Amino acid sequence: MTATTTNTPPNTPVTRSTFDDVIVPTYAPSTLVPVRAKGLDLWDQEGRQYLDFTAGIAVTSLGHCHPDVVHTLQQQAEKLWHVGNGYTNEPVLELARSLVAATFADRAFFCNSGAEANEAALKLARKYAAKNGHTHKTRIISCENSFHGRTLFTVSVGGQPKYTEGFGPLPADLTHIAFNDITAAREAMGNDVCAVMVEPVQGEGGVMPATTEYLQALRELCDQHGALLIFDEVQCGMGRTGQLFAYMGYGVTPDILTSAKALGNGYPVGAMLTTNTVAAAFAVGTHGTTYGGNPLAASVALTVLRTINVPSFLLRVKHASKTLILALQGLVQEFPHMLAEVRGSGLLLGVQLTATYAGRAKEMTKAAEEQGLMLLIAGPDVLRFAPALIVTDEQIQEAATRLRRALATLV
Ligand SMILES: *Cc1c(COP(=O)(O)O)cnc(C)c1O
Repeated sequence: MTATTTNTPPNTPVTRSTFDDVIVPTYAPSTLVPVRAKGLDLWDQEGRQYLDFTAGIAVTSLGHCHPDVVHTLQQQAEKLWHVGNGYTNEPVLELARSLVAATFADRAFFCNSGAEANEAALKLARKYAAKNGHTHKTRIISCENSFHGRTLFTVSVGGQPKYTEGFGPLPADLTHIAFNDITAAREAMGNDVCAVMVEPVQGEGGVMPATTEYLQALRELCDQHGALLIFDEVQCGMGRTGQLFAYMGYGVTPDILTSAKALGNGYPVGAMLTTNTVAAAFAVGTHGTTYGGNPLAASVALTVLRTINVPSFLLRVKHASKTLILALQGLVQEFPHMLAEVRGSGLLLGVQLTATYAGRAKEMTKAAEEQGLMLLIAGPDVLRFAPALIVTDEQIQEAATRLRRALATLV
């Protein structure tokens, strides 16, 4: 700060220009500053209401300020916040037991974000090969257009070169293949591969579901070559597809699964799930993180898991998905020169823009915001819909109405 700069007093309302002054410029947030929210309703500083179809990027899947989640956090906040990894705690054990009981996994590792969950998975895969004497097995295969986080390892495994530019030297022995291309996977596979990492539904990369045949082929290739199959379910897990985890709908079981985003409904927490055999490659001291599975995060995640992992809840996600798909297909018919197709799974849906409107997804979300609807993009040409899983049919119709008004301004 220079001598002539005056400090903004702490009680001055934040605005976009305050943001530009004091935050490292990695984001370009909207001018709307959210101040409070409930369910799918969100209000800005002026008291304007918005329908939130972003869920904080597929995070607040039970909606904002879900009463049970708020209650859990308040209760735990008065009991025990943090103890460090020299001690375990009751919520983390219960959360691990519940995740293990609900999935293929035998063991869980907890951290604070999706990137960290994937970092743990990738390190574990390399360690697993090394520990079993396969020191030549260091290569990791992942998909073009995939997104696995922003640590140097995960961003390098992620298949978007623009995100690694200028960060070199990057971790070595990484191969990127076209998504959903079985032939490419066969060609890339070899005995030097320790793991294949894939999102069952690519989120950031344009809302692209894997085909069942593709995931089955990856499973077979991994088995043939002694490689681990890692599913990154940071975005598509925790009920988003109408299954607790997407792999369950595909009937293809990974060796390692990562979760984050919706796991804490906004309270930062991530998890890596795996089998006893694979977990045995890690020992005391080989990996860790200070906050991982602290009582606050674990108790919140436990409540989220118990709420989502209920057959009637997941069934409702599938019904809401059908309603939203129909509403979006209706808009594709109304605006055929703008919108090309609807795709995705459960309540992770994308609308591909036509070639005429290529690159204009951001502009459309801006127009939607002006009509009181918050939306995401997935790349420059795809509108992404990831509402809280508790979304009602009425809210879906209202979102379609607001989006119709927004699109009409861009014709
Ligand atoms: C968001 C995301 C990540 C990264 O999670 P962070 O919590 O931002 O580190 C990783 N993988 C997928 C599929 C994601 O959508």
